Formats: sequence, structure tokens, C-alpha cells
Amino acid sequence: MNYISTRGDTPATGLSAALTAGLAPDGGLYVPDHLPLLSMADFDGANTLSDVAERLLAAFFAGDALADALPAICADALDIPVPLRALPDGHSWLLELFHGPTAAFKDFGARFLAAALARIGDAGHVRTVLVATSGDTGAAVAAAFHRRPGFRVVILYPQGKVSPRQAHQLGCFGDNVHAFQVGGSFDDCQALVKRALNDSDLAARMALTSANSISLGRLLPQMSYYALASLQHWRQHQRKLGFVVPTGNLGNALAAMLARECGLPIGPVALATNANRGLADFFVGADYAPRTSIATLANAMDVGAPSNFERLRWLYPDDDALRRMFRVGWVDDMEIRDVITRTSQRDGLTLCPHTATAARQYERLRKTGDEADYALVATAHPAKFEQIVGPLIGAAVPVPAALQALLQRPARAQPVAARYADLLATLELL
Ligand SMILES: *Cc1c(COP(=O)(O)O)cnc(C)c1O
Repeated sequence: MNYISTRGDTPATGLSAALTAGLAPDGGLYVPDHLPLLSMADFDGANTLSDVAERLLAAFFAGDALADALPAICADALDIPVPLRALPDGHSWLLELFHGPTAAFKDFGARFLAAALARIGDAGHVRTVLVATSGDTGAAVAAAFHRRPGFRVVILYPQGKVSPRQAHQLGCFGDNVHAFQVGGSFDDCQALVKRALNDSDLAARMALTSANSISLGRLLPQMSYYALASLQHWRQHQRKLGFVVPTGNLGNALAAMLARECGLPIGPVALATNANRGLADFFVGADYAPRTSIATLANAMDVGAPSNFERLRWLYPDDDALRRMFRVGWVDDMEIRDVITRTSQRDGLTLCPHTATAARQYERLRKTGDEADYALVATAHPAKFEQIVGPLIGAAVPVPAALQALLQRPARAQPVAARYADLLATLELL
């Protein structure tokens, strides 16, 4: 398998090189030059996330030096439970993606990327993993690379725009992990990272790599839980499973579509955004235009310019065809609060604010007569957002053990202005 750029101006390259580079040299995003088509029989006997990932990703690793390491990478990185919990209405499920070390789905991608990069020979070189985060990515990347020889992690997050527990997680690792709180928005953080990754002067002095959702090493493994859940559902019910995906940078949603294009028994994919409604507006006919992000309760989705939109357009080049692929809805903070409260009272189930956007979009789909089976994708544990969720459900949110362990460590982050020169100066001092 070769990888090409969404902008078409980069020579085809192998997986290892694409993983290491992060962004393609022409500023585009790496995508596979074709998609494999698998059949249900290809997954016979594969019952765990790691097994399913190995079968699904074999074609994506074929021909690369990393191909032989794929089973070990999957076993290392994807040893995380992914329960598909039946919901009381009888035709929906909750796909819980928050049982990893930092209690959000970003753990799958971050751990896989770390396991893969660690096996790409570059002995004696320290690589700097640069990551912009709207809350959850940074912690997942920090956990995945913490104390890994040959790596250091630089996290940029928007000061005051992540939850207190998210901020604690970002600052609590220490050692080879450096957390910076940027005086700006998530989009500012993302722009700084993109600029650094495109800066050839900087590249000459420092081996930089990205861990944002633009990274192929995160995108590829995210297909695997959609594959596993849809296979389990098919084996049990002989029906396709649709998904409602809470969406920010479109990485998780894109992974669902890629898994479907690879032949997995996936039904409709619906997307939910928060009040950053640019994507929803595009899907009802507006021109696509990046916007300034606004702060919402579902802060890990506060994205005005979804970085994976470019990959979506590569997958579906015709805008009208693309618009027919998804039902996209945006959900404001009042609805998020309302859904969290109602779901808790009705089902005894506590949702995080991001997952609540999917639950709201699911309600709308049902109201329009959509009868597909759907899994709501639960992207984070509600305990990461206890200051929002606790008062709404009128009770404390139980904290998972892994999160508790992180919250007990001391945390610190260094302030930095949202200016490229300041970031450069800071990097030189590390
Ligand atoms: C990152 C994140 C999202 C959005 O995922 P994208 O891949 O950026 O669309 C949704 N929910 C949570 C909890 C997240 O951390």
C-alpha cells in the first residue's frame, strides 16, 4: 500500500514515512492510494479488537517495513475493552470507547501511533511529538508516549478552554511530556502545530512528528472498533449497525466511513456536532468555509475548521454525493444539558457532553422515521466533565480507576502566547 496526499502534489510514499511525517510535504493529508475490500469471511475467528484490527489493517501495512510488526502493535496498543451496551429502546446501543488510560477514545489512536513509531528504526534520535489538543488528544498522546525512550511530547492546549480534569491530565505526566497552555483557541493551537510541521528550518534542527487527528497512525486503528462492533452486531442479529458519531475534527467519523468502504457491515453513519455548526450547514447546502471556533460544553469538539474535511472530500470528491453520505446535526449547550438530564432519569445512564450530542441526533433520526440499528459512539467518560455532568444528574460521577490515578499526580503547564516565534523560542529551550 502506498500513501498519497489529498492535495496530489507529493510523491506516493510508504506507510512508515507517512506515519513519521504526519503532514504531507504539500500541506495535504496522507491517504491510502486505494482501499482494500474485505469480506465477512476475512474476519472468521477474529473476536477481539486486536484480532479484528490485525486483519483489517494488514492491507494498509502491506509492503512496508512495519508489516511484520502489525500483530505486536495491535496487541500492545489495542488491549482496551470496547463494550457495545444495549440501550432500553431495543434498537440502539452505546459503543463505549472510554475504557483506555485517559478515559476518551483518543487512547486507541494515540497508543497505536506510539506503538508504531517506536518500531520505526531511528536509533539515537529523539523525536518530538507535537500535538494540539482541544482537551482529550493531548492526554492520550502523553499517556501513550510517557517515558518511551527516543520520544518527547509537546502539548499545546487553549488556556481556560479545557475542563479542569482535562487540564490536570495534560499537566500531570512530566518527564518527557511538556504541557503548554496557549493564550488562544484550539484553532490557534492547531495552526501553530501545522506551521511547525511545515517549517523546513525547524525540521533541520529537530525531528518533529505530529500526533493530531491528521496523523494516519491515529486514523487507521480507529477503524477497528467500528469493524468489531459491526461484526459482532452482524453475527448476532444479521443486521448492519449504523453509528452516530460526535464530531469535531472528523477523524473518528472518517474512520467509520473508511471501515464501511472496506466492506464492513456498517449501516448509516450520522454525525453530531456541537454549536460549531459549519459542518452541519455544509451538509444542508452551504459552501464549506472554515470558521472561528466557539466554546461549548462539548469542548473536545470545539472546532471551526475540521482538519479531516480534506480527507472526506478525497473520499467523496463530489459535494452533492458527499452530502448524501451523512445526516449531520448540530446540538447546542441547552440540548446537551437536557439530554444528559433526561437520559440519566430515564435510563440511569450518564453521558458525557460529547456523547450527549450523538444521543440528541439519534432522537432526531428516530423522529424522522429512520429505523436503522444505531450505536451511539460514547467518546469520553462522563467523569472527565464532572463539573458539567454532576449538577445535571444530581449526583457525583464515579471516577474510573485509571483516571483517578492520574488525578492524584501533581500537574503543571507553562503559559505561552499564540505566536509562532514564541513557540519556536520555547521549543529551543526544551
Ligand atoms: C476528540 C473528541 C471528539 C471529536 O472527535 P474527532 O475525531 O475530532 O471528530 C468527540 N468527543 C470526544 C470526547 C473527543 O475527545
